[in-house]
Amino acid sequence: MNVPLLDLQAQYASLGDEVRPAIERVLASQRFVLGDEVRRLENSLSEYCRTKYAVGCASGSDALLLALMALDVGAGDEVITTPFSFFATASSIARLGARPVFVDVDRLTYNLDVSRVADAVTPRTKAIVPVHIYGQCVEMDPLLELSERHGIPIIEDAAQAIGATDRGRRAGSMGALGCFSFYPTKNLGGAGDGGLVTTNDEQLAQRLRRLRAHGGSTEYEHEEVGVNSRLDELQAAVLNVKLPHLDEWSDGRARIAEFYSSSLQDVDFEIVTPLVRPGCRHIFHQYVVRVPRHHDALMEHLRERGVGTKVYYPIPLHRQVCFSYLGYEAGAFPEAESAAAETFALPAYPELSDAQRAYVVDSVKSFKPRT
Ligand SMILES: *Cc1c(COP(=O)(O)O)cnc(C)c1O
Repeated sequence: MNVPLLDLQAQYASLGDEVRPAIERVLASQRFVLGDEVRRLENSLSEYCRTKYAVGCASGSDALLLALMALDVGAGDEVITTPFSFFATASSIARLGARPVFVDVDRLTYNLDVSRVADAVTPRTKAIVPVHIYGQCVEMDPLLELSERHGIPIIEDAAQAIGATDRGRRAGSMGALGCFSFYPTKNLGGAGDGGLVTTNDEQLAQRLRRLRAHGGSTEYEHEEVGVNSRLDELQAAVLNVKLPHLDEWSDGRARIAEFYSSSLQDVDFEIVTPLVRPGCRHIFHQYVVRVPRHHDALMEHLRERGVGTKVYYPIPLHRQVCFSYLGYEAGAFPEAESAAAETFALPAYPELSDAQRAYVVDSVKSFKPRT
């Protein structure tokens, strides 16, 4: 049997008949940038995320960049974030000339350790960017309280967490701004790049609309220097078809996660299954296990059995060569570094058959550690 880490073909097999006519409609209209499909998607997603506004853009990376620009983050500013995330979380900060200030993650959730954030605040702190990693929200209440106390806005990197909740509040609706990605492998993935920023603040929404279109509110008048980061109609058309299925897919992922976690309780070696915070909805963008002593050997064993795995993320951001100028040494963030060394993802996409799920569990259990 073969169980890839993700199988987008399986999703397309059930969706192709809906997607193709939607694409045909866009081709027939010959309207490709910021048209009706984008407006429809923005409306549906502001409703889905329970925010007043949603502004489409070209990618999740650009969503972060635009959100930071909308808060006037620039040279000399500091932005607090996690060292354990996809590269764009920190690169968007660095691209604006601001300094990413990392705070270590929590050992069990791999999310920002919110108890350490206050110590990282300085007079130069311009924003805080928590990442809802793997599809589970950061514990937002302490962060929101800190944000309020210091007047420092929060930008949620919700690229992996569309539809996740923290005490009933949706990812992307709690901070000043929420950033989403429609990269094809995300829970809501397009047929290429795409992104979106959510907010409840009308002025920020207007600013985002301007910034994504070269900083102009009309075509040839520019109040500021923005970027070209628009969402195209073909992407929006595909996403409009997929959005009604999103909850069913994310619930399917959560059911697989539950099956894995209950099946992997009695294993001969230490394997730590994901912690789901009580009262929160985890959408399991990734199902990540920690295997402290047999990480590489178990991954190799699963590869031999045809089970796909992947390490998210093998090099924490503070150890990336491009960020060496920040001066963080190895050992600066022990939890991020041990997570990078000890964790990997198992296949948990919703189209997995019962036989495939069982095979993944059997494959893990058949591993015999050499001590
Ligand atoms: C995917 C992702 C991004 C970037 O999104 P793109 O659409 O690929 O640019 C940013 N942050 C996190 C946490 C992500 O997972």
